[in-house]
Amino acid sequence: MLTAVNVAIRGRVQGVGFRPFVYQLACQLQLSGTVQNNMDGVKIFLEGEEDLIQMFLTEVKEKAPRLAKIKEILVESTAVQHVQKFSIIPSERSGTSQLVIPIDSAVCEDCLEEMNDPNDFRYQYPFINCTQCGPRYTIIDELPYDRPYTSMKSFPMCDDCQQEYEDPTNRRHHAQPIACPTCGPKVQLLDGAGTIINSANPIQETINLLKAGKIVAIKGIGGYHLCCDAMNEAAVTALRKKKNRPVRPLAVMAASLTATSSFAIVSDKEAELLTSPEAPIVILKKHHNEQLAASVAPNMSTIGVMLPYAPLHHLLLTDSELSVLVMTSANPSGLPLVYQDNDAMNYLVGIADFYLSHNREILHPVDDSVVQVNAGKLDFLRRSRGYVPDPFPTNQDVTGIVAFGGQQKTTFTIGRNKQIFIGPHIGDLENIETINHYHKELTHLLRWIDTPKTSAVIDAHPGYQAQNLLTDYDFAEVIKVQHHHAHMAGCIAEHQIDGKTFGIILDGTGYGLDGHIWGFEILYGDAADFKRIAHLHYTPLPGSEKSIREPWRNAAAMLISYHGDEGADMASLVFPDKAQEIQVLTSMIEKRINTVYAGTCGRLFDAVSAICGVTKVANYDGQAAIELAELTDETQIYEPYSFDLLDNELITIDFSTMLKEIVSDVLARVSVTMISSRFHETVVQAIMSAMGMGLNKNSNLEKTVVLSGGSLHNRYLRKRLTEELKEKGFVVFAPESIPCNDGGLSYGQLAVAAAKRRK
Ligand code: ZN
Ligand code: ZN
Ligand code: FE
Repeated sequence: MLTAVNVAIRGRVQGVGFRPFVYQLACQLQLSGTVQNNMDGVKIFLEGEEDLIQMFLTEVKEKAPRLAKIKEILVESTAVQHVQKFSIIPSERSGTSQLVIPIDSAVCEDCLEEMNDPNDFRYQYPFINCTQCGPRYTIIDELPYDRPYTSMKSFPMCDDCQQEYEDPTNRRHHAQPIACPTCGPKVQLLDGAGTIINSANPIQETINLLKAGKIVAIKGIGGYHLCCDAMNEAAVTALRKKKNRPVRPLAVMAASLTATSSFAIVSDKEAELLTSPEAPIVILKKHHNEQLAASVAPNMSTIGVMLPYAPLHHLLLTDSELSVLVMTSANPSGLPLVYQDNDAMNYLVGIADFYLSHNREILHPVDDSVVQVNAGKLDFLRRSRGYVPDPFPTNQDVTGIVAFGGQQKTTFTIGRNKQIFIGPHIGDLENIETINHYHKELTHLLRWIDTPKTSAVIDAHPGYQAQNLLTDYDFAEVIKVQHHHAHMAGCIAEHQIDGKTFGIILDGTGYGLDGHIWGFEILYGDAADFKRIAHLHYTPLPGSEKSIREPWRNAAAMLISYHGDEGADMASLVFPDKAQEIQVLTSMIEKRINTVYAGTCGRLFDAVSAICGVTKVANYDGQAAIELAELTDETQIYEPYSFDLLDNELITIDFSTMLKEIVSDVLARVSVTMISSRFHETVVQAIMSAMGMGLNKNSNLEKTVVLSGGSLHNRYLRKRLTEELKEKGFVVFAPESIPCNDGGLSYGQLAVAAAKRRK
């Protein structure tokens, strides 16, 4: 029987080839009607035999383009109109209101097959792409996303490409970066001085150079990487030395899942992430006897791995003697990603032996994203390439809210209609280059998104760069948000939690409302407001930044402040070469010279790491805590050390006795694994006791809790806290689509401003 239905499809269905897909599916099933984009997604009118319409509804989900993410399909029957054919019709309410900025995605299977087919005219072509894969965000100059507004504008299509581009049945129909060896971009090999090396096959030449232990700067999708053979210890050591990066783990790119399995354990979920269109770096557990060069990830049981995502990467990883490459972003330490050819030649002098470059310009740099699977859930360490700036939907109009993020690992977030756009990972706002980079990307995304500038949201810290950044934009109001409330609100918004909730926020540092540094917080409230239930006892951070870079100082200060002269003696015993400096620290603390007070999870981990002799001086942010966590036994639960809870107006968690016990364990040469495991469990139990005390003190609190803050990347903490809280009847949430570290702060800040607006 002839019937008709209206179908509304929501999710990521725009800018991913969804309308041509619907067109083809409808034609195959001999259905007539229309398809169009509208404000909410895709709207379809279908007319035909009932069973064929049913088939359409099943297949539209099952066979959807790989970049599509269908969240909802709504179907309602409607009057038959006796339409003769199926057609794609213009969007409803056109313009930027249904804004889609497409994201970069890894090369698809169909393109790979063609690239490996000697009879295909794109055989071994390193820039092959289609509507379902290839660069997007990184090559767009202006919206709408159309070839003349991308860096492909300088490559006029040849007849073959043009034909595919115009054919609605072709999988390259309107694929804006479409290209082939005749008309598209080309690779080029240059020596360290930037002189072009004439070569019939620059890619094969590069493979040979990498096999010979050379360091090659390779231009990819979002910027340049520095690459070398990950099995070649001398090459990796040289790369570290030249890049001035002594210990921080390096990421690798492995030829395939099979190649990955030879050095790391890959679960199904991890394999899915590795092979996803987003192709992030996934943190995996190494095998005990893996064969990678020791200096790829020293002191680490884990390794960051990605699979080839650009066709060029696939072509580089075809040699059986070169199956794993070190692939680290090519920026001098602390500076933004290098993505322009001139900068690469300037900044990488003396680092790169060669350059494998190409003439498709990168307009917007993006770092590789980094994820791990933590307690069975996705945990973003860095959300960038492949994910940004794909918007998050919200139920509320957030137009005009712009959140500036934090100071470290920063991002910005922009609201428009019911869409929230988180910008790319920017980095630490500690030098003028990164600050300029922030400015450039924010200005650009603001122009694309074209939202009125109503509310600027910044961290309450008076010293953060955001204060200066926002003066360049004209906002009607400025909202200051407490750091840990932003972490909490982000998780509330992500999971759309109604009502009030606890927030357990374990973090590095954040400015507290009392002027001290917070970061070990039990909060209660919602996205609009909160109250503080419990926190870690404050201890001094003499010389603040210096105590963060040199965790032994922070450890000594904790011991001295908790235990006075006895503490100073303990410090001298565990840091015997620092006797003089410990005296200086003691007087700095007594006289409160250049000393701030902090109660943060990050600093507590730093201190214990230093006392155990794991990391006394840190080379990179978070090193002490990460290396301590590496030594934890995650397979069993250990007996906790002692801790105290002081119940004043606020509950204060006091670890003075624990630190004393740890010092005596260290002096008695108890294994670091034992100490670290007991320490981790102590933190869990102290939090659980504080939660219990908080519930007793206050009546009618909701038994919901969100976990966030950078320390929640710690696998033991996330897993054990979740277990314990669930056992006590709590419903537990943690960030899964945004980072729990400060990369997610701007999203949380926006959530606070939105909630205040709603109230
Ligand atoms: Zn493709
Ligand atoms: Zn062509
Ligand atoms: Fe934070």
